[in-house]
Amino acid sequence: MEARVGADAIEAAINALRAALGSDAVIADRDQLNEFRDPFYVLGDDSHDVSAAVFPVSVEEVQSVVRIANEHKVPLWTVSQGRNYGYGGAAPRVKGSILVNLSKMNRILEINEELGYAVVEPGVRWFDLVDALEAAGGKWWSSIPDLGWGSVIGNSLEYGRGHTRFGSHGHNIAGMEVVLPNGEVMRTGMGAMTGNKAWHAYPFSYGPTVDGLFMQSSMGIVTRIGWRLMPRPEKYASCWVHFDGDEIIVPVIDAMRELQLDETINNYPFLGRGVSANAEGQPDLDPNSQKWALRFALYGYEEIVEAKWRIVERVLGSIPGVEIGRKVYDGTDRVGPDKGIHDDRVQAGIPGMELLDLYKVPFGPDTGHLDFSPIGPLIGSEVLKMVRQVQKLYDEFGEPYAAGCMLLPTSIIVVSVMFFDPKDKEKTLRMFENFDPMLAKMKSEGYGLYRTGIYKMDAVADTFDFNDHALRRFVETIKDAVDPNGVLQPGKQGIWPQAYRG
Ligand SMILES: Cc1cc2nc3c(=O)[nH]c(=O)nc-3n(C[C@H](O)[C@H](O)[C@H](O)COP(=O)(O)OP(=O)(O)OC[C@H]3O[C@@H](n4cnc5c(N)ncnc54)[C@H](O)[C@@H]3O)c2cc1C
Repeated sequence: MEARVGADAIEAAINALRAALGSDAVIADRDQLNEFRDPFYVLGDDSHDVSAAVFPVSVEEVQSVVRIANEHKVPLWTVSQGRNYGYGGAAPRVKGSILVNLSKMNRILEINEELGYAVVEPGVRWFDLVDALEAAGGKWWSSIPDLGWGSVIGNSLEYGRGHTRFGSHGHNIAGMEVVLPNGEVMRTGMGAMTGNKAWHAYPFSYGPTVDGLFMQSSMGIVTRIGWRLMPRPEKYASCWVHFDGDEIIVPVIDAMRELQLDETINNYPFLGRGVSANAEGQPDLDPNSQKWALRFALYGYEEIVEAKWRIVERVLGSIPGVEIGRKVYDGTDRVGPDKGIHDDRVQAGIPGMELLDLYKVPFGPDTGHLDFSPIGPLIGSEVLKMVRQVQKLYDEFGEPYAAGCMLLPTSIIVVSVMFFDPKDKEKTLRMFENFDPMLAKMKSEGYGLYRTGIYKMDAVADTFDFNDHALRRFVETIKDAVDPNGVLQPGKQGIWPQAYRG
């Protein structure tokens, strides 16, 4: 899809941006813009190229950008760090869009030591936030995803996932500030009241709570959020369960559901095969492996962590064919890059980049990957069915199946990863083609995806088809009302503004 305005309108918008924000704030040089291509797609492909990138440094500058886009009807695509690797990176859906890169709005506006929240701008990375928390005394931990270079806001707006107690990042947002498609600034929740003292401490609005409208969405540009933190525990146990063969998934998952629902385990566990953990618990990548490794964490006072571990031993340790183990750390003993393995660090909220290195093993530095991530209920027999179904599809395509499932208390995201070499155009395109029958099959079995990249957003949106896509039609109605020129992120998650529909 190309921008539905002429090159002259795009040129005029770029000139207006230079005039409003200064020439240094705008990149229009083709070579420099190539940096914003998706590194996990056909190398050299230009079908999602941006026409320029603009780097606002304040809310007022974001407002100017949006107003200029409206004046010239030029589409914008927003990123906070643009490291959305596996889902399109910084690349937009519509070729010729102007990239709004918020990485220079990178202030941590507050760390509230009593209530346990931080207030951050979009450019704040996991590395920055955790450094600031440590510098403030380390009383608070942040949940983090696997890689530390992404932003708190970009990841959380995508319903990104972390691995501590606070790992459901979409849930972790406590109040937002948003620049709307008409350039106006709005604050959600209690923040809608000037001077309200509980903006980042209370989750709802008076009347409808609209924060969800800005997640996986094209309704606004989020310029700050409140972010809930986790109190540093006295003890932290990094635990694992290993087993060989798929059948044992059933009792393990059923036990995990009970342990999560009664909050014996209250982080977000991860179950992998062929990716991220081997039998020794070390990061490993072997898509042909039949060994499953589940990791989870226990946090709290020493007595609580010990008591919980005894329950884990009784419930999980008694399952035939299962091995369990743990490493216990003091909460103050930060499991740094030289200590512990990735699993230990990520569950303690210590950001790193080691998993990206691991993902480069199959095809070297240029390795690309495409994630397929259906959600199912957390019931052992259902999870085994899903895993076998996904395995069958990978077998049909002759590709290895690397599984990395994320457990919630009542559901599971059965993520699988297809690796490819972006230098090999034919093979890369075949991987993306394989996605479609997988999507159709899982939809026919009643499973939908939690997130997807720019290439498959329409296809995934099509699977949410209840009552002739009533949800999509409702969201499109809102989109047309708030963004009549269709300038913000057209096509994001399959929502097209009127000017781009049909
Ligand atoms: C090896 C590997 C491991 C990974 N592990 C994880 C993991 O554990 N958990 C996980 O969730 N992901 C994971 N990812 C995926 C991805 O790297 C992360 O989600 C990353 O944090 C997203 O990057 P970002 O913060 O730069 O997002 P961005 O690219 O900045 O943003 C993502 C999207 O959100 C929207 N957006 C961003 N900012 C705004 C804004 N201010 N206002 C409105 N909309 C906005 C845009 O549509 C944008 O395209 C992994 C990827 C790799 C390669």
